[in-house]
Amino acid sequence: MVFEYAPAPESRALATIASSYGLFIDGNFVDPIDGSQFKTVNPATEEVLSEISQAGPADVDRAVVAARRAYEQVWGPMTGRERAKYLFRIARIIQERSRELAVLETLDNGKPIRESRDVDLPLVAAHFFYHAGWADKLEYAGLGSAPRPLGVAAQVIPWNFPLLMLAWKIAPALACGNTVVLKPAETTPLTALAFAEICQQAELPAGVVNIITGDGSTGRALVEHSGIDKVAFTGSTDVGKAIQRAVAGTSKRLTLELGGKAANIVFDDAPIDQAVEGIVNGIFFNQGHVCCAGSRLLLQESVADSVIEALKRRLCTLRLGDPMDKNTDIGAINSAEQWSRIDALVRSGEDEGAERWSMPCQIPERGWWFPPTLFTSVTQAHRIAREEIFGPVLSVLTFRTPDEAIEKANNTPYGLSAGIWTEKGSRILWMANRLRAGVVWANTFNRFDPASPFGGFKESGFGREGGRQGLAAYLERAS
Ligand code: NAD
Ligand code: MG
Repeated sequence: MVFEYAPAPESRALATIASSYGLFIDGNFVDPIDGSQFKTVNPATEEVLSEISQAGPADVDRAVVAARRAYEQVWGPMTGRERAKYLFRIARIIQERSRELAVLETLDNGKPIRESRDVDLPLVAAHFFYHAGWADKLEYAGLGSAPRPLGVAAQVIPWNFPLLMLAWKIAPALACGNTVVLKPAETTPLTALAFAEICQQAELPAGVVNIITGDGSTGRALVEHSGIDKVAFTGSTDVGKAIQRAVAGTSKRLTLELGGKAANIVFDDAPIDQAVEGIVNGIFFNQGHVCCAGSRLLLQESVADSVIEALKRRLCTLRLGDPMDKNTDIGAINSAEQWSRIDALVRSGEDEGAERWSMPCQIPERGWWFPPTLFTSVTQAHRIAREEIFGPVLSVLTFRTPDEAIEKANNTPYGLSAGIWTEKGSRILWMANRLRAGVVWANTFNRFDPASPFGGFKESGFGREGGRQGLAAYLERAS
């Protein structure tokens, strides 16, 4: 029986979007020096949401100078106890405004409101609360008796979790006494600009946080600026490598959080219904735009057919459509460019001989959409088994023994995350010791907590975000 839901849209009126935005530099919104702008759109409707300023090199310079001044005169000398008050205040304002911020995120990004409301925003607030708690306890973090801030941090983030990636970057930097120039992704600048308003509302001293919008050229000018002490980047492996080359030979500290191609490994003793939920959450959460997505499903051969059958059955119950509807599971693909990347890789899967299955569903007329898709008959040589698709596409492989599972799981240039599904605790530990992945989930997937460090091995990058380990990226050990 097909069960029809009545539409249940969240109110768009909860968010106010200005027709245009300036750059947030030294506590104020200012126009870019050369005046150029670009548009941000709602990927579910292609509607233009706002005109955004494109920061050029002179604007980057203004922002870095403001951050330096704020570091030297205000934020660096301030006690941890005082800094904590600002972080707590920001965390509380985020909670108070979370419904509005969730709507803004969904409009600009295309992710379902259910996810921005129930996952992104609670985690954003949690990151600020968690780091507020650290600000006056840094000498007990195991990083030396009097660890010092680094100075000015340049932070560049992607479009898949716009406000959450901002929180992962800004909260630890400020807690440790650094000031920040952050560049959000060009397709999703709105929540970062709303965060700039929150900084004003919290009366954060001018220049401690600067938000400059623009495309990759702005990001490049920022990370190459000689006045910064630290670069923190999340995004593609190619850009990460370019940034690493650009900072080589300078004294800038660097952390990179790049792509992934995680194995989600299901043993024959796993609770299958639970595993199916975990597989769906692992790859179809946030349209698969997740660096730690479980994009390679490794099934033990004896249960492969039954898991695939249960998975297809489950996928047929997902609802794709209006991201603002509270019943929607699968929202829009963030941009036409990302849609083309996904489409090209899916075609390569078909051309190389893998078997494609896509969830039957109606695709809205406007916007960018991709139905949840899975490939069987995949070999390790196929591009869809090797390259990050960053979309709702799952490649299914099989294995017979735990050794074979480890070998296949680790057969990737990436190493960000992995999942294990089994009833045996000893097997979980045996596997976790051998998986070359920064995060290993057991009988769950895509769980995040500010106290738990997140980061990669190999081409997934280096450095950790979150937890005590994440503080190390923003502190200088006093020798
Ligand atoms: P990207 O790496 O091009 O962009 C990420 C951020 O870096 C954006 O803010 C962008 O403006 C900026 N940027 C681009 N070029 C830069 C440069 N030379 N110097 C400094 N900053 C620069 O990623 P994308 O185009 O948004 O997505 C492409 C691929 O990246 C995806 O298909 C996916 O594989 C991967 N990705 C990974 C993550 C992740 O969380 N690890 C997030 C988004 C995208
Ligand atoms: Mg947008």
